[in-house]
Amino acid sequence: MTRTAIVTGAARGIGAATALRLAADGHAVAVLDLDPAQCADTVRAITDAGGRAIAIGADVADAAAVDAAVARVAAELGAPTILVNNAGIIRDNLLFKMTEDDWDAVLSVHLRGAFLMSRAVQKHQVAEEWGRVVNLSSTSALGNRGQANYAAAKAGMQGFTKTLAIELGRYGVTANAIAPGFIVTDMTRSTAERLGVGFDEFVAFNADQIPVGRAGYPEDIAAAASFFCSEEAGFVSGQVLYVAGGPRA
Ligand code: NAP
Repeated sequence: MTRTAIVTGAARGIGAATALRLAADGHAVAVLDLDPAQCADTVRAITDAGGRAIAIGADVADAAAVDAAVARVAAELGAPTILVNNAGIIRDNLLFKMTEDDWDAVLSVHLRGAFLMSRAVQKHQVAEEWGRVVNLSSTSALGNRGQANYAAAKAGMQGFTKTLAIELGRYGVTANAIAPGFIVTDMTRSTAERLGVGFDEFVAFNADQIPVGRAGYPEDIAAAASFFCSEEAGFVSGQVLYVAGGPRA
């Protein structure tokens, strides 16, 4: 069945791969990111493959922008019933060097962003009596040096997910979280830069620690999101799936 999906942070990385995958699954997709111009490649990849997509510019941490974005998706693509809260940033630093801005920015995009998007989309899900929410957590939720802000946000995403599952289940809405391990994207590229390590070397080092012997790719996460968003996953809710090539990062 064709549904309308919103994927946040979908200009690149995991969000772009997830948008493409949901479009391939037959859904119309709103490709949402801070700058709508940056969404052009994802939208073109979807439409070139015969799918339906629009670019939407919005800051997920801005309530008015989120409400306007969701209303536009409903008007142009139909009621959004699939939501992937993927938009994210990192501002890594050891605790003693972490600024309040580093803390607030990360908590704001991940947690406030997922809250605002979910609150706006649930109206449509409840009205349609069907919905899927997928939230991006991380193996960092288990703790990671230099990421007090990010680990707190990603652990918070898990509690948020379980609560959505409890509150929205009666309306046919499931909520699940994906906790990726090391995935090759611009985010991990910027971590390598911060550490002063070449990206290829950084990927090889991380792949060495991963039981399946390779780094993860955005498509690995998109495949898990596709399952959670499927019709047949209706009895799977409130779960956290670690997609990390092994039991931990
Ligand atoms: P990425 O390549 O950095 O892409 C993130 C996207 O989110 C960017 O296009 C970014 O836009 C957008 N974004 C940032 N702030 C936003 C906001 N306020 N409103 C709307 N869009 C915003 O990251 P990624 O590696 O694909 O990660 C995607 C998600 O997976 C994140 O939640 C991340 O924490 C999580 N994750 C990633 C990994 C990994 O290894 N890569 C592991 C675990 C979890 P701009 O380019 O304009 O900033």
